[in-house]
Amino acid sequence: MRLTTVGTGTAAPWPGRVQSGHVIETGSVRLLIDCGSGIATRLADVGIRWQDITHLAISHFHADHIVDIPTLLYAWRYGQLPPRFTGLDIIGPVGTVQLLARFAAIFGDGLLSLGFPMSIREMVPGDAVGLSDDVELRCTKVPHTDESMAYSVEARGRRIVFTGDTGPDEALGQWAKGCDILLAECSLPDSMAMATHLTPSQCGALGATAQPGVLALTHFYPPVETVDIRGEVGARFDGRVVLATDGWSLDLEER
Ligand SMILES: [Zn+2]
Ligand SMILES: [Zn+2]
Repeated sequence: MRLTTVGTGTAAPWPGRVQSGHVIETGSVRLLIDCGSGIATRLADVGIRWQDITHLAISHFHADHIVDIPTLLYAWRYGQLPPRFTGLDIIGPVGTVQLLARFAAIFGDGLLSLGFPMSIREMVPGDAVGLSDDVELRCTKVPHTDESMAYSVEARGRRIVFTGDTGPDEALGQWAKGCDILLAECSLPDSMAMATHLTPSQCGALGATAQPGVLALTHFYPPVETVDIRGEVGARFDGRVVLATDGWSLDLEER
């Protein structure tokens, strides 16, 4: 199982970091979670075959997590020869069907009939769906927007949890407990703390509860990059911490 942090940025344009998007590859599954501005190009940039994405999961509907969805859909139809013919599963919170319909209202109905099968599946917190015979995706509610969800991907004894955008939440730490990689947002410095995003020390507290094999941080607004992120996380969590960059990846040996 391999995690690649494709886009580690936010709503703030910032050199080297495009908006949110992360890929988990395991077996036949190529799962893209979130698809903010820059992700379609960054996939190509970091050497992930965007042509081969099998599933797209959406954590919530903020623009920095969804605006490149039409870019990628059109890429599969018009950006390659021959055009895509394999199916695509889109997964997201309740409202995802309406979100895609709204994109289609802007770009035309052709957006949802591109010549390859497309399914849209809405999940409610607590749901689990199989992405293939042995890959399971689960979700839980997190405090950010009404629909915001964290995801867990499990396959052959390995588990990666992605927080999506979230505020501090003890239940999230319990839910992620013992995962191999906890990919957590780390938006803001402690001086700008708010209920709907995490600071480095809050990421440390989350790590202390969840005790992941690796705590990987993403979704950095520029002000948080001016503080000692590693030091503030490390004051609360003594495990391995990675400050992810666009294109960083980690392989987990499957059992
Ligand atoms: Zn965001
Ligand atoms: Zn958000």
